[in-house]
Amino acid sequence: MTFNNTLKNITTYEAGKPIELVVREFGIDAADIVKLASNENPKGCSPKVQEAVKRMVSKMALYPDDSMFALKKALASRFNVQERELIIGAGSDQVIEFLIHAKANENSKVLMSAVTFAMYEIYARHVGATIIRTPSYEHRFDEFYAAYKAHAPEIIFICTPNNPTGDAVDAQELYRFLEQIDSNTLVVIDGAYMEYAAYKDAAKAIAPKELIERFDNVIYLGTFSKAYGLGGMRVGYGIASESVIEALYKLRPPFNITTLSLEAATVALADEAFVLESVQECFEQMQHFETFAAKQGISVIPSYTNFVTLQLHNEQKSSDLAFALLKKGIIVRDLSGYGLNAIRVTVGTPEQNRHFFEQFTAVL
Ligand SMILES: *Cc1c(COP(=O)(O)O)cnc(C)c1O
Repeated sequence: MTFNNTLKNITTYEAGKPIELVVREFGIDAADIVKLASNENPKGCSPKVQEAVKRMVSKMALYPDDSMFALKKALASRFNVQERELIIGAGSDQVIEFLIHAKANENSKVLMSAVTFAMYEIYARHVGATIIRTPSYEHRFDEFYAAYKAHAPEIIFICTPNNPTGDAVDAQELYRFLEQIDSNTLVVIDGAYMEYAAYKDAAKAIAPKELIERFDNVIYLGTFSKAYGLGGMRVGYGIASESVIEALYKLRPPFNITTLSLEAATVALADEAFVLESVQECFEQMQHFETFAAKQGISVIPSYTNFVTLQLHNEQKSSDLAFALLKKGIIVRDLSGYGLNAIRVTVGTPEQNRHFFEQFTAVL
């Protein structure tokens, strides 16, 4: 059977390996496996979420509240925006899908950093758009501006902090860049790790309200999958001017968020103390990674996220290292597919991290 031509240029996204797969493939006991590959919160989620979800289990026969009243109200109040300036997706991934389909087609160009979140390219390829990348893996606004001038892209993706490198842009520099972009170019600010960046350095914090007040052509994305510890519930959101949100709503399937997920996200958002504690512990633990890497002579990209990117020496191949670790039950992300000789490691619990340091030393 033949399929759309656009599919020929798409490679299927390879998600971080689930623990069950490593159990099956390598015969390692599930209890001995440490998964540090998908930037999940090693503390899990707020205990209040677990209780709330249990209470909702009796409601599973009915369709979810498609207006998402409670979660929208909570998000609007958290970010000091209007509910009509919000859209909620099954992960912010789904919002990325909506905005690509709303704005791009086979004649479009989509601009992004040399090394960034893989889903931007995959969704752009769904519609047959051309991908333009800046030369550097960091987000350098001089490079973004030059590419914008040369290619006139329909969409620009700014991932800050960036996945998989962990670096973040300065809010003021971002605003200066946005002032130079015409109002018909959609600029996406993906803040999947913003809770971490904002804690580490206020200069990196981007407030969605200020962003959308100043710029009609910008959408801010957030997610419950990282700091909030709800990767399994699939909830993310977009914040933008009403006209952008209206366009995205045309693409949203009804009931795209389940009853349990809506409840989980609403309760998680209210437990600010849990998120703060998660972020603090993450950066405490990250110091051990920095010390460890320095001892091993490995460089670490300064990270504003819950993961560290270890840049290896030329004689060590990241794919070999990642595979050797996998055989020892440690799942990390090899970045060779991104053109970097590096591995990305999620900062885990103190025990998980100790285990990683031990095994990593052995493998080296
Ligand atoms: C994890 C992540 C997302 C989205 O995750 P969802 O689980 O789909 O909400 C988006 N952008 C970046 C950069 C991420 O790392």
